[in-house]
Amino acid sequence: MTKYKKVKIIATLGPASENQETIESLINEGVDIFRFNLTHSNKEETVNRTKMIRKAEKKLGRPVSIMGDLGGPKIRTGEVAEERMLKVGDVLNILDNESKEENSITINFPEILKELAVGAEIYLGDGMPKLQVKKIIKNGVAAKVIVGGLLKSKMGFAAQGLAIRSVKLSKRDSDFVKLMAELNIDSMAVSFVQSGKDILEVKKLFPKGYAPHVVAKIETLAGVKNIDEILKEADGIMVARGDLGFAVPMEELPLIQKQLIKLGMAHSKPVIVATQMLESMTNSHLPTRAEISDVANAILDRTDAVMLSGETARGKYPVEAVKVMTKIINRMTDSIEPAEFKESKRVSDAMSASAVKIADQVGAKLIIVFSETGASARRVSRHRNSQPIIALSPNKLTIHKLNFSWGVRAYFGPRVESFKAALPQAIKLAKDNPIMKLSKGEPFVICAGLSFGKAGTTNMVLVERV
Ligand code: PGA
Ligand code: MN
Repeated sequence: MTKYKKVKIIATLGPASENQETIESLINEGVDIFRFNLTHSNKEETVNRTKMIRKAEKKLGRPVSIMGDLGGPKIRTGEVAEERMLKVGDVLNILDNESKEENSITINFPEILKELAVGAEIYLGDGMPKLQVKKIIKNGVAAKVIVGGLLKSKMGFAAQGLAIRSVKLSKRDSDFVKLMAELNIDSMAVSFVQSGKDILEVKKLFPKGYAPHVVAKIETLAGVKNIDEILKEADGIMVARGDLGFAVPMEELPLIQKQLIKLGMAHSKPVIVATQMLESMTNSHLPTRAEISDVANAILDRTDAVMLSGETARGKYPVEAVKVMTKIINRMTDSIEPAEFKESKRVSDAMSASAVKIADQVGAKLIIVFSETGASARRVSRHRNSQPIIALSPNKLTIHKLNFSWGVRAYFGPRVESFKAALPQAIKLAKDNPIMKLSKGEPFVICAGLSFGKAGTTNMVLVERV
């Protein structure tokens, strides 16, 4: 059984990891959540992966969650008749419609061509080729190749500050939403979110009763600018540094990461730091020293979760990469500073702030939260307190959603109708749980709502001893 750790690990599944044995090893080494990159998968794969993970979860006895990642409105080049190398100095016309001209390409959101001024830099694919706009022409722009590279069909197309006006979820994405609802997948990440409305559009497609943890991937300038309204609608956010690094000047990334994590904590919504965290481990059994520091610094920034992408999806060392992350997390955890918040008049904020304050003051070893929807547990978690937080919920989805939150380990607890019924359950759990078994006389804190079973009613903090 994996030891409890406070910062969560997300691993992307792919050819390097999608078999029962590797999935189990990854969980054993510290993976809390598996990500399916739906841009690169089909229905059958998604169904199989889900089955394998649910099976492993049952066997290993701790919650493991699944996050489907929707492609969203990614800007891409159109089809090219033939792949070809672009050389420095070549000129390429980017047009709003198909043309017979040999040196021309199209893109799937032609409206953004108007936003490309002379001098704008354009990155295709992972950054190569790189182009620069030289001239505005009829139906588009003429761009010169600055860094050569292979031109293929449907390459990612990125330039700073682009905003797509009208976004409709693609048929492919909405089909995946349906499939995820059928499979009861715990979480859904939405790529290229630009506004709160984008999240609402996805939520509209959910069948009644399906309420997964919706993660807004922040990877456009509009996403950064509209973060407040996005945080109102989404359940969590991802600092998607890969695409974000093209959308804003690269030197802005570290500060944006810090700001987004702070905002996530302010809203009690978990944050994921993603992309290239241990990139070199795709091909090497050891990380670079810079990568070790990057993961450590994300933890010191107080992120809820860190994510692995290619490292676990197609790398040579998926299990080793997770081991490295777990080691860094465990080493850094004691150096994470508790978070301070402005005093708030909301009862739920006052309760969670008091719970951690009292826990520290009396030397409590554990905080137990009875949480129907998970909201109260997330409110405690945002304080980045030193005690492990055990959440008890009668709701399976809540348990899986809480896997994204810093320091929280959630378990199933039958719905209790009264405080009298809850107390013995809490004492039993404090004595016997897989994280921290308390000895006789040791104090712990309980957070609960006196109107049990009703969501959003935490109004009690109690110190108890086993
Ligand atoms: P992706 O998102 O891996 O789906 O592109 C993460 C990122 O852009 O950083
Ligand atoms: Mn991305």
